[in-house]
Amino acid sequence: MLRMAEKDRRKKAWAAVQAAGADGLLVTELADVRWLSGFTGSSAAVALAGGRAALFTDGRYTTQARSEAAGMRVAIGKGSPALLATKWLAERGVRRCLFDPTVTTVAAYDALRKAVPTEMRRGFFVASPGLVAGMREIKDTFEQDRMRAAAALGCRVFNEALPAMASHASEAEFALALEVAARSGGAEGMSFETIVAGGIRSALPHGRASLARLPRRGFVTVDFGVVLDGYCSDMTRTVFLGKAKSRERAVYHSVLEAQQAAVAAVRAGVSCGEVDEAARSVLRRARLDKWFTHSTGHGVVLEIHEGPRIAARQTQPLAAGMVITIEPGVYLPGEFGIRIEDTVVVTETGCEVITAASPKDWMEL
Ligand code: ZN
Ligand code: ZN
Repeated sequence: MLRMAEKDRRKKAWAAVQAAGADGLLVTELADVRWLSGFTGSSAAVALAGGRAALFTDGRYTTQARSEAAGMRVAIGKGSPALLATKWLAERGVRRCLFDPTVTTVAAYDALRKAVPTEMRRGFFVASPGLVAGMREIKDTFEQDRMRAAAALGCRVFNEALPAMASHASEAEFALALEVAARSGGAEGMSFETIVAGGIRSALPHGRASLARLPRRGFVTVDFGVVLDGYCSDMTRTVFLGKAKSRERAVYHSVLEAQQAAVAAVRAGVSCGEVDEAARSVLRRARLDKWFTHSTGHGVVLEIHEGPRIAARQTQPLAAGMVITIEPGVYLPGEFGIRIEDTVVVTETGCEVITAASPKDWMEL
C-alpha cells in the first residue's frame, strides 16, 4: 500500500525546508519519524534531501520498515540511525541541514556533527525548533478518523468499567477494570499511567491509581486514555460515590460550566489564551480560580502531550484540524478535586467533541 498521507506530509515538510533556505532535513524524534514515514519501530531517523526521502533503521526492523514505509527509500544499517541519516545527507551534498534542537541532546548533536566530513561541518546543522512537530499540530482526515476511533473506544471502556466503581474496590482495581476493558476492546495499551484518585486524593491533579480504597462518600477522578493504532485518546470524568452535599454539587457544576464555556470558545482563529480564559473566567466568578492550578488543555494525537498548549496568554491561534483537550479542574487541598476533560477536533466554525459518548453530567453512584 502506498502511503499517500505520509507522501503528502513529506512534500509539505520539504516545502518548509526550502522556505527556510535549507537543502536538507534530519528527523530523529520517533513520533515525527512515524508521521513522515508511517514507520512505528523504536529506532529510526528520516532524512530529506533534494526532494528525496529515506528512512534509516536497523536489522530488527527490515520487514516492518519495508511494509510500513512503502513508497520511500528504506536503509537498514548498523549503529545509530541518526548517524546513518547524517552521513547520507552529507553524501548527497547537503550544505544546510535543519534539525530539531528541542529533541536533540547536546551529546547526540556532538556525535552527529562528527559524522559530517570536516570540510562540510561549518554551518551544516541549522536549528529549527519544532518544525515537524508544528506541522503535526494540524491533523489530516486520516488522523482525525483515527482519533475519533480512539476516543470512541475510550468512552466505551469507561462506560463499561463504571459499574465496577460502585463495589468500592481500590483505585488500582478500578484502573485494572478500565485497562482490561481497553485491551479486550482492541487497544494496544494505555496513553499514560491511568489516574484514579478518590476522596481527598482527588485533590491531587495527577494522583496515580493507588491501593487506597475508593471512598464510601466522595469524588473519584478518572483520567485515562487508550492507544489505538498508535493514536492516543485522553478523557477525564469525575463521579460522586454516595450522597453529595450541596457544596460538592455546586463546585462540580462550576467546573462543568467552565469546561463547557471553553469548549464553546474553540474555533479556528481563536487564540489558545482566549480558550483558557473562557474556562478561567467562569471559575473566577465562582471564586474557584485560585484552585485551578494547571492549563486548560493540550494537543494530543500520536503523543499524549503535543502542541498547542491551551494556557493563559498563549497567542497561538487555533486552526481547523487541530485535536486538543479541554480539561479545567478545581483542587481543594484536603477536601476534594474535580476535573472534566474532553478531546475535541477544531473546525472553522467551532469544534467536534469526540469524547461525547461518555456523559459528563453530575453522576452519583
Ligand atoms: Zn487526561
Ligand atoms: Zn489531557
